[in-house]
Amino acid sequence: MAQSDSEKPPEERYPCPKCAGGILRLRYETHFTWLHNVMITVPDFPVWVCDLCGHREDDVRAKRWLSILLSPTLGRPTVPRQEKGASPRRQRSSESASP
Ligand SMILES: [Zn+2]
Repeated sequence: MAQSDSEKPPEERYPCPKCAGGILRLRYETHFTWLHNVMITVPDFPVWVCDLCGHREDDVRAKRWLSILLSPTLGRPTVPRQEKGASPRRQRSSESASP
């Protein structure tokens, strides 16, 4: 049985821009962000961490994905339901215009 690791994607790594000697490796950590004074935790959020100096960089794709998720103009998953009939309807009297 010959083991073939060709199916495994190559490990992504980049040289650290800060210390120029370390390697940025992709790690998954819990990410914290704020949205309208509400702290949001995102588990398994990808972040690049240098194995030498500990420099951290956010993953661009993940940040974009997160910004889309938190965008107020896109997808409002929790819309408060309006109770029907809760507010009494105002009845306009059109006859009040008459002198
Ligand atoms: Zn570094």
